[in-house]
Amino acid sequence: MGRKRIIFAPAEGGFYGTLGEEPLAARAASLGRAAQAALALGTCASFGGIFAARPNPTGCIGLGELFAREGISTPLVNLPGCPPHPDWFVGTVAAILLSGLEGLEEARLLDEYRRPKLFYGKLIHEHCPRRAYFDEGKFARYLSDEGCLYELGCKGPITHADCPLRLWNGGTNWVIGCGAPCNGCVEPGFPDLVSPFYEKLKEA
Ligand code: SF4
Repeated sequence: MGRKRIIFAPAEGGFYGTLGEEPLAARAASLGRAAQAALALGTCASFGGIFAARPNPTGCIGLGELFAREGISTPLVNLPGCPPHPDWFVGTVAAILLSGLEGLEEARLLDEYRRPKLFYGKLIHEHCPRRAYFDEGKFARYLSDEGCLYELGCKGPITHADCPLRLWNGGTNWVIGCGAPCNGCVEPGFPDLVSPFYEKLKEA
C-alpha cells in the first residue's frame, strides 16, 4: 500500500496547495497531530473562506474539516476574519497560556464553530451605532448616506464579532463607521453565504 496522501485538492492531486513538493494539507496534518493545540487564523484557515467558494475547483477546506477527515483530535480554536483582528489572536493566545485550551472548553468559552465567545459572542447588529436607524426604519439608499446599511447589503444581523466595540487599526474606525456594509467575513460559509455583498439579506 502506498504512502497515504492528504490533499486539499482531489481534482489535481494536491497540486494547488503545496509546500515545496509536499501537499500543504499533509504538512498541516503532520504538524497538527504533533501539536498540543491548533489555532486556525483567518476565515480561510478556519472554514475554507474565499478559496472554498463555489465551485471550489481545488477542493479547499478549513483546518477543522481536515482534522476531522484525518482523525486528528488535537484541540482547535478557530479565529476567522478576512482579515482577523490582531486582538482576537493575541487575546486567545493569552487566554490559552493562562488557563489552557481545556480551560476554554470546560468554561464553554467557545461557540459551536469553536470561536472564542469573548470576541465572537455577539452579533455586529447588537452593538452597531446605526442600530437606532434600523429600529426606526431609516435606511441608507447610497453608501454615503446616513442611516442603516441593511438595504445596501449589510450582513451585521447574521455576523458574530465585536468590531463595533473593538474597532480596527488601534481603535481608529471600523467598516460600518466608514460607511460600508459589514460583509459577514467571520461566518462559516463566507463568501457564498453572504453573497452578493451589496444585496439585502433575504432574512434578518
Ligand atoms: S443592518 Fe448593519 S448598519 Fe444596520 S444596524 Fe445592523 S449592523 Fe448596523
